[in-house]
Amino acid sequence: MPFTIAIDGPAAAGKGTISKAVAAHFGFAHLDTGLLYRAVGAKTLKGVDAIQAARALTPKDLEDDSLRTPEVAQAASKVAVIAEVRAALVDFQRAFAQRSGGAVLDGRDIGTVICPDAPAKLFVTASAEVRAERRFRELEGKGHQTSFADVLADVIARDERDMNRAEAPLKPAQDAVTIDTSTLTIEKAVAAAIDVIDQKRKDA
Ligand code: C5P
Repeated sequence: MPFTIAIDGPAAAGKGTISKAVAAHFGFAHLDTGLLYRAVGAKTLKGVDAIQAARALTPKDLEDDSLRTPEVAQAASKVAVIAEVRAALVDFQRAFAQRSGGAVLDGRDIGTVICPDAPAKLFVTASAEVRAERRFRELEGKGHQTSFADVLADVIARDERDMNRAEAPLKPAQDAVTIDTSTLTIEKAVAAAIDVIDQKRKDA
């Protein structure tokens, strides 16, 4: 039986970590939909037109390690405002959500646009400072030369663009359960997510 878990929230709130852990816990497939936008953004940095890049995207394009850089993140949020880019990526995401073994999708518009009927919706958030601190440590750990101030500015710029765009702006679905991870350990945040989903599975 398909059972879709939609996990949305701003950059570096812990969505990715929670989504992977939840998918492993329930034995569901996981799609990080941010990678689709990152892959399109990365192509535009190489001079490809965003809409054409989105229409021609293949699963192999998602395997590129350079998709995790701050430059690609900014490029991703710029292409993500384009309606035709978003439209080109809808079918792939909806097909993934219908997998028979169950699916977890994380992104910005999963509960609001891609899977509005998902039985379990979470909105994972945290303060901008906490999110920037986490992203800063992660980038430092990978050897990127950057400062906390730059990372915070990046996070805030991306939040602004993601929340204020006309197409599929970042916001919690009406029936989403919000988890604020600002003061939670990873274990506590994952446990909170699993509790919510267990309850939704009972109700489904
Ligand atoms: O989640 P991640 O940080 O990898 O996403 C990169 C960018 O892709 C986001 O800042 C957002 O602009 C865009 N995105 C989106 N819709 C999604 C997932 C990501 O607009 N479902």
